[in-house]
Amino acid sequence: MTETTKIALNPNYKRIATEEAFAPQAVLDMYRKLYESHTLGDPGFDSLWGFYSTSKAARPSFIREKLADLDALRIADMDAAGIDHQIIALTSPGVQVFERDIAVSLARESNDVLADAVKRHPTRFTGLCAIAPQAPELAAQELERCLKLDMRGIIIHSHTFGEYLSDQKFWAIFEAAEALQLPIYLHPNTPPKNMIGPFVEAGLDGAIFGFGVETGLHLLRIITAGVFDRFPRLTMIVGHMGEALPYWMYRLDYMHEAGVRAARYECMKPLKKKVSDYLRENVYITNSGVAWEPAVKFAQQVLGVDRVMYAMDYPYQYTPREVLDMDAMDMSLEHKREFYQGVAEKVFKLR
Ligand code: MN
Repeated sequence: MTETTKIALNPNYKRIATEEAFAPQAVLDMYRKLYESHTLGDPGFDSLWGFYSTSKAARPSFIREKLADLDALRIADMDAAGIDHQIIALTSPGVQVFERDIAVSLARESNDVLADAVKRHPTRFTGLCAIAPQAPELAAQELERCLKLDMRGIIIHSHTFGEYLSDQKFWAIFEAAEALQLPIYLHPNTPPKNMIGPFVEAGLDGAIFGFGVETGLHLLRIITAGVFDRFPRLTMIVGHMGEALPYWMYRLDYMHEAGVRAARYECMKPLKKKVSDYLRENVYITNSGVAWEPAVKFAQQVLGVDRVMYAMDYPYQYTPREVLDMDAMDMSLEHKREFYQGVAEKVFKLR
């Protein structure tokens, strides 16, 4: 994590990192208190923030310090890693572990902190708007406020108290996001308590695997619930190589069609398009945490070069040298420029 050599910017493209995290110190303090109070009853939260709030090991200590900084420390790390620009969002699980009224006001406060930082460093930072899914009817109001704060998207950390956005009670959020043309970054959370048992028992509940399983499931539920038929101009982003869904596209299409044709599930209604069509047309993915050439190229091949963006997942996976591996990919300069810069500029309206 400590780097001595500074990686130069690339003259051929901007390196825009699109899934980078922060948390106001007040939110970090609340996570710690919530963990220590043992009142939430969410083993995933206790596992995640029990570790990141209290561990004295080098990596969690580094992460705590860097999450709270939106000035010199962060910019020094970006400079050391050759990163031109960060798309920054409130860290997981955002405000989605707090009681409704607290969540609503904490999202506002957190958005103000981030918007101020973007004002201080407009060439280095872009912000995403945190909302409280606990109050879907208030989402439009906060999103409009965030637009005035010059934010360029929305962050949602997967499930909220075990509930998924495929439930129509949340669709006011999609309606507002579509109307305001703000992409929703569906970022991982630990699996909810009715899913986490076999994961946490093996130490696999977090970013190592549980995050991806839970968030991939969430996006699939959104697709199969018909959200993109109802909101065709809605755009979502998922990290970590699309939470593995690009690898599943063939079978998802086959089994969804077969399940619908046989009327196997009351809940599984026909869709206007194939599952893979929504992944190609409504979803963008990032390679956060996966600086791996074969995976990036596979995603570009099956989703399109115009659908795959670079992300580092700072400060959780601060690996400065990964950009050298990504620079060295056997890929045309034009496609590399799309990966690092072009797609992000389009999705977050950076130009
Ligand atoms: Mn992340």
